[in-house]
Amino acid sequence: MQLILGFFLAVTIAYLAYRARSLDRSGAFAALVVGTVIFGLGGWGWAILLLTFFITSSGLSRAFKDRKKEANEKYAKGGQRDAGQVFGNGGIPTLFVALHFFFPEAIWPWLGFAASLAAVNADTWATELGVLNPTAPHLITNLRKVVEKGTSGGVSWGGTLASLAGAGLIGVEAAVLNPFGVNWTFFVSVTVAGLLGSLFDSLLGATVQAIYYCPSCHKETERNPVHSCGTETTQIRGWAWLGNDWVNFSCGAFGVGVALSYFLLA
Ligand SMILES: [Zn+2]
Repeated sequence: MQLILGFFLAVTIAYLAYRARSLDRSGAFAALVVGTVIFGLGGWGWAILLLTFFITSSGLSRAFKDRKKEANEKYAKGGQRDAGQVFGNGGIPTLFVALHFFFPEAIWPWLGFAASLAAVNADTWATELGVLNPTAPHLITNLRKVVEKGTSGGVSWGGTLASLAGAGLIGVEAAVLNPFGVNWTFFVSVTVAGLLGSLFDSLLGATVQAIYYCPSCHKETERNPVHSCGTETTQIRGWAWLGNDWVNFSCGAFGVGVALSYFLLA
């Protein structure tokens, strides 16, 4: 019964997001799968964390559009999210809801679920709000080096604070909506996991993520095979297979690793 309800809720949200151009067609289909599984196997508490990520990230990518225009060209994808992006961010949370279904008495699936969402939420908030930082970011692997706004691997105080806030919001929800009762230690572990996951994302962006170059705009970009201007891009660094979606996936996985280690060691 809950699966059917979850399906209808997910259809409604995916359709609205598609109409609002937050998701393209493949993204809407992927969101339908993720939403149905998370609501259907988890229920409201789990769905609220997913919706928090989904609504705030779509909202933030719309907000301040003009001020962000230039930096956005660097990112692999525009405001409209596709299936790769939805699974890159929502794949791990979906896996943990399934694990909760098989291990209903265990607490770690909730922790893994919340930590992965905290990490991708932190990363999205940092990306969307970090470009509003008044000064240019610094490279995470060499903090003395100033880089252009929107450069993969660039970090700023504004972006890091945004990341902390994005992780903290999911952290509060993880504590309050915990299926086994309110538990504030989850606020700490999930928030820290989210923040570190998003810094790991920046570290990958500065080192091994596939980065391309647009010969017409003379700019670095995550976009491939063509830049937003329509010109074909060429890879200048990183591992070819490690595109933006896998980096997001790794960001969530790193957050899970942090939260579960904290849980095991504390
Ligand atoms: Zn270009």
